[in-house]
Amino acid sequence: MTRLADRATLPLPLVGDDTPVPCADGVERPYLSLDAAASTGALPAVARRVEEFLPRYSSIHRGAGYKSRQATDAYEAARAAALDFATGHGPARDRVAIFGRNTTDAINHLAYRLRLRADDVVVTTAAEHHANLLPWARACRRRHVETGTDGTFGVQDVEAALDAGGGPPPKLLAVTAASNVTGWMPPVEQLVAAAHARGVPVLVDGAQLAAHRPLPAEADFLAWSGHKMYAPFGVGVLVGPREAFTDGDPFLAGGGAVEYVGLDEVVWAAPPEREEAGSPNVVGAVALHAAIDELRRVGWPAITAHDVELAHRLRSGLAAIDGVTLLGPAADAVRLPLATFTVDTVPHALVAARLSAEHAIAVRHGCFCAHPYLTRLLGLTPAEVDAFQRAMRAGDRRLVPGAVRASAGINTRPEDIDRLLAAVADIAAGRP
Ligand code: PLP
Repeated sequence: MTRLADRATLPLPLVGDDTPVPCADGVERPYLSLDAAASTGALPAVARRVEEFLPRYSSIHRGAGYKSRQATDAYEAARAAALDFATGHGPARDRVAIFGRNTTDAINHLAYRLRLRADDVVVTTAAEHHANLLPWARACRRRHVETGTDGTFGVQDVEAALDAGGGPPPKLLAVTAASNVTGWMPPVEQLVAAAHARGVPVLVDGAQLAAHRPLPAEADFLAWSGHKMYAPFGVGVLVGPREAFTDGDPFLAGGGAVEYVGLDEVVWAAPPEREEAGSPNVVGAVALHAAIDELRRVGWPAITAHDVELAHRLRSGLAAIDGVTLLGPAADAVRLPLATFTVDTVPHALVAARLSAEHAIAVRHGCFCAHPYLTRLLGLTPAEVDAFQRAMRAGDRRLVPGAVRASAGINTRPEDIDRLLAAVADIAAGRP
């Protein structure tokens, strides 16, 4: 049960919240980011930790100096924290956390490391971000789980995709833990159980979940990004079983990943070093560690309660505005504070531009790196999808279908949502 003391800590302001920005009428208004699903700002505790670390900034692992040892300790402590963040809630297994740049990097890394053959099959879904579609498309054949027009699918749909084809079992189920377009959270625990019952390992794309709920520890592989959980850009994590990274060539070849190099031979190091060639993003790892600590300090019960309250206010508020259509599941069926919508009479790009220029509210618009999902949510006909493709190929963004997304986080206040709702209501009603 959520205790009142937990909830009292939220919202938690981020660095730079409420900065006054000039609007088109010459009036300055406090900047309001409702674009947390793209990237969150940084928590003050993260900024402080980075500032404290910078004087100790030094090369890690191979440096013999005092600061190198300190920086190495900080980096490895961040790795331990990331591993615990991913697996601390479930069965302990021999897993490694590999630092990279972001979720995209992590999934590409895994797609390379699984050493897929062109005729292998990976099962994925039509609700994925491009980061969880394109690496598989490049590596092998795919079987896609379709979504309904509400953007959801059921466990039985995934089971059917896992069982289809009559050949050998798929090499992987790759599925998101939360959609960046609808905020819907597929029943990941059940999907993992269904895949495991068939001997199929699972990658969960945790990019959208990491700041909101515990990551599903039962997944074999997990990928997520620091910049969506209140740390800066440039650090992401891939977690997986150690044995998946012990044989074969690493994703990147270079210094730090080796035990020995001759001009014609190489002895790779053990993971995780084997998977982290080149000088790593130590500051990013330290920042991510601080963000993990801060999320832990606030606690998932408080974060969940905050999310659910904001999700209800945002989604039911938008659904109640004349001329606004919410995409995806019904307003109350989504418990992450994210809503994607269209305004009947105003193109998505114009809605977003007016929110920014007139109200200092930042949202995202377009297709959210999820073209297949958006075409389904918008209910586009094959002819419209064709026109969409032609417009994109021609670089003509005016014809591109899309929607507007508002997404909130740990720092969002109820009155921030109300400010957005009032602005959208004005735009939908054609009021200046
Ligand atoms: N997966 C999901 C669900 C996302 O929302 C995103 C980013 O929006 C990504 C993957 C890719 O994350 P990144 O850009 O940090 O690699």
